[in-house]
Amino acid sequence: MSRFLNQRLAALDEYVPGEQPQDKKYIKLNTNESPYPPPQRVADAVKRQEIEDLRLYSDPECKRLRRKMAEVYGLVPENIFLSNGSDETLNFAFMAYGAGGAVFPDITYGFYSVFADLYGIKSEIIPLKSDFTVDVNAFCGKMKLVVIANPNAPTGILLGTEDVERIVSSNPDSIVIIDEAYIDFGGISALPLIKKYDNLLVVGTFSKSRSMAGARLGFGFADEKIIADLEKIRYSTNPYNINRLTLLCGEEALCCGDYYAENCRRIIETREYTAEKLKAMGFEMTDSKANFIFAKHKNIGGYELYSALKEKGVLVRHFGNERIKDYNRITVGSREEMEKFLEITAGIIGGKI
Ligand SMILES: *Cc1c(COP(=O)(O)O)cnc(C)c1O
Repeated sequence: MSRFLNQRLAALDEYVPGEQPQDKKYIKLNTNESPYPPPQRVADAVKRQEIEDLRLYSDPECKRLRRKMAEVYGLVPENIFLSNGSDETLNFAFMAYGAGGAVFPDITYGFYSVFADLYGIKSEIIPLKSDFTVDVNAFCGKMKLVVIANPNAPTGILLGTEDVERIVSSNPDSIVIIDEAYIDFGGISALPLIKKYDNLLVVGTFSKSRSMAGARLGFGFADEKIIADLEKIRYSTNPYNINRLTLLCGEEALCCGDYYAENCRRIIETREYTAEKLKAMGFEMTDSKANFIFAKHKNIGGYELYSALKEKGVLVRHFGNERIKDYNRITVGSREEMEKFLEITAGIIGGKI
């Protein structure tokens, strides 16, 4: 760090992404990417001409992609915000709505506290209940920016739509963000509620269920006034936040609903299969409705299992946080990857009995 950096920023604890090692080939179950490639239509979208057209700026209004999204989701383009990954929508929302403070659970997506710190926002951290479910009452009537990941990460636990609506309706004078990065793996989206509540921002991404983490495409759905706020920030920071190739790939991806639905079905099936096998090995886990399993075993520490797996070529995600240090978050990969993971895990656990 240089001596020139603004002191407040120098004190920040930045977000730590999951490892993306480039040295050797791992079975990569640590960052919740899809085991399946984007559909052929997406691959075909990037033609030679499109590469030549990279000399031109991208469309700052993302007109075609927004129109297509509006069609697919039954909205008008004015309800849709597009961003460079959903992290960027979250970033702008904290910037726009966090001045009065923000509130989120103790165990959730790590970026929320980073954004709060980045903007000097005071955070109220509400502990999940002992079974890792959200304490819904504690999120009602807050008069602060409320942020909930649903399903939550890294627990995978889903909050029902009635509970989501209770949180939204009881905070009429502040924004409620529902981060639905994993909603396609077994949840019901809060999207229909944006027509009823002008304080709801539903955030989503192409990174997980749509196999496009590397393209960086995320979105927000909300009342058009909220979208206008976010646009104001976008035009004040980076109007070309989505590159030309990603815009094209996103449009094609939206045409492949059936392909993605089938991938999600396979991932859910593999999740349930893997969970059963892990239970038979003595693991305990949450009821995940996401594309990962959050599990612990009484005979081995979380970090110890993470390290043993890494040594054998399998990457999972371990979090140091005291409350969840016994756990690992295991992305649901392909059936073949999970068979291999189970076999290696059985070997490690077997050595512990
Ligand atoms: C993965 C993830 C995101 C961010 O994804 P992007 O790649 O930036 O779209 C947002 N929220 C949660 C809870 C996530 O797990």
